[in-house]
Amino acid sequence: MDNDIQEVLFDQDSIHHAAVRLGKQITKDYAGEEPVVLSVLKGAYLWTADLLREVDLYVKLEFIKISSYHGGVSSTNSISLVTDIHSDVQGRDVIILEDIVDTGQSLLFLKKLLAERGAKSIQVATLLDKKEGRKVEIRADYIGFDVRNEFVVGYGLDYKEMYRNLPYVGILKKEVYSD
Ligand code: 5GP
Ligand code: MG
Repeated sequence: MDNDIQEVLFDQDSIHHAAVRLGKQITKDYAGEEPVVLSVLKGAYLWTADLLREVDLYVKLEFIKISSYHGGVSSTNSISLVTDIHSDVQGRDVIILEDIVDTGQSLLFLKKLLAERGAKSIQVATLLDKKEGRKVEIRADYIGFDVRNEFVVGYGLDYKEMYRNLPYVGILKKEVYSD
């Protein structure tokens, strides 16, 4: 897989440091609370595993699956709930874990859903923030790294369901997805 990567943006070491930094911050900010951590599949699977190991709190971990990208390199406007959670978020503090915030539409969808279900507070911890891609006004509360407006893969992020298991985040060579 390494041969398909044009440039490594965030290596394992820097991702680990981001997890430690944000894990400490979340531990501090939620001291005494028992938040629900809502991990967004599939992209956030590694970020969830690494970040949560740096969070010293009694958390309840839930996974939700939404679809937005449909395997390509550009976002679409239609978002649907693929696999829902079965626990009640009414009156709970929820922390959404995302791999990347791009247009912001997925996050808006999730925040609305949780608000409708009566969550007490909703915050977002994302590994990557692609601010230039934003189409709706929304921001993450905890950000690992800002990333430029390019299609990235690895560490959870896929291209046609591949590269999620790359241990770092990088940019694919153009020829890999130009055909
Ligand atoms: P948004 O709804 O903010 O446009 O997009 C959120 C989702 O789109 C992310 O959770 C991720 O699955 C996907 N996405 C956005 N940008 C990228 C990217 O650069 N690479 C990959 N692989 N997925 C992306
Ligand atoms: Mg995602």
